[in-house]
Amino acid sequence: MKTIYKAYRFRLKPNVGQGRQLARIAGVCRLVWNLCLEQRETVYTSRRITLNSYRQLPDVTILRGEYDWIREIPSQVLQQKVRDLDIAYRNFFEGRASFPERKKKGKSIDSFRFPQGFKIDNRRVFLPKIGWVGFFKSRDIQGEPKHMTISRSGKHWFVSICCEVEIANAVPKNKAVGIDRGIAKLCALSDGTVIENPACFGRYKRKLAKLQRRLARKRKFSRNFYKAKAKITALHSRIAHTRRDFIHKTTTGIAKNHGLVVLEDLHVKAMSKSAKGSIDNPGKNVRQKSGLNRSILDAGWSEFRRQLEYKVDWANGIVVYVDPKNTSRRCPICGHTAKENRLTQADFICVSCGYSGDADITAAVNILRAGHARLACGEIGAVRPLGEAGTLKAA
Ligand SMILES: [Zn+2]
Repeated sequence: MKTIYKAYRFRLKPNVGQGRQLARIAGVCRLVWNLCLEQRETVYTSRRITLNSYRQLPDVTILRGEYDWIREIPSQVLQQKVRDLDIAYRNFFEGRASFPERKKKGKSIDSFRFPQGFKIDNRRVFLPKIGWVGFFKSRDIQGEPKHMTISRSGKHWFVSICCEVEIANAVPKNKAVGIDRGIAKLCALSDGTVIENPACFGRYKRKLAKLQRRLARKRKFSRNFYKAKAKITALHSRIAHTRRDFIHKTTTGIAKNHGLVVLEDLHVKAMSKSAKGSIDNPGKNVRQKSGLNRSILDAGWSEFRRQLEYKVDWANGIVVYVDPKNTSRRCPICGHTAKENRLTQADFICVSCGYSGDADITAAVNILRAGHARLACGEIGAVRPLGEAGTLKAA
């Protein structure tokens, strides 16, 4: 048996009063975060000491004593917020994130965590000082709830319930698969499966473009400007949910059936900067449209990778990363490598032996082979991108 953490995310159904209270907690959390950040910066500038939450928590208690409206906020939530700042600092010092920023209303992501004091009923959760709040229960919850995070996305509130789950050690599957990242499609597998993006993305993209044109015509900071902006935020949020849901289904399927998953070690950031092509217009035209394309398509890949890594790990499989060089240009039959093999975006035609096939599936086959080759070199169990040897995580 092994213990894993699973998070379940549901949309909350707060009533008007509860919604107001959630917004108030979020506001005080932003304030406490910003105050603590400022204090750390001031102390560091004057005395070269970095404060941590142990030093700052007593100050938060004093604040609670002085202001009624801060006292109304559950203290554990505020304490968690100060501890989050420790984590943000650590992530910065260890090179995983940029320096923590001030939280701004409407711009930063609002979220706060209850480490205890919450309860879960069938279709509602109990939050200290707020009471029972209903949620849309889209799936069953397994395991023992450890903490609960409330967050806002667009105009809706969500609860993430983090549970400790005991799972049986799965028998590793012996099937292997290579995966090629697509542009218009999500990905292609070496077994010939092509996974298209959800059809609604095209519709969302057109709608987003329309809303953005509309926003451009509004007088800045007028009432109508904010109304139009809110609509765009809501649509972005809907796109994000659809994508997340879709990626979950896809990655679960892949992880369930394969013991070895091979991916290209693409640097997603660099990739979206020099976008190879778009849905209907590969090549040059991308730059001007890239804002839209990126919001719809690109954000999916790092999430896809993240989900696949942990799901494959749960199933006792491994993920291997390979160098993307030439994977789209090499012929899987004769090994001839040339850019002439790829005269079009969609087809692979070998100029040497005449083999032809779907370009993405061909690339996926090459990726799978490169993965086998990498394992044969003795790097078994290396679940890591190629360029990050420092963060090697053995499976
Ligand atoms: Zn060939």
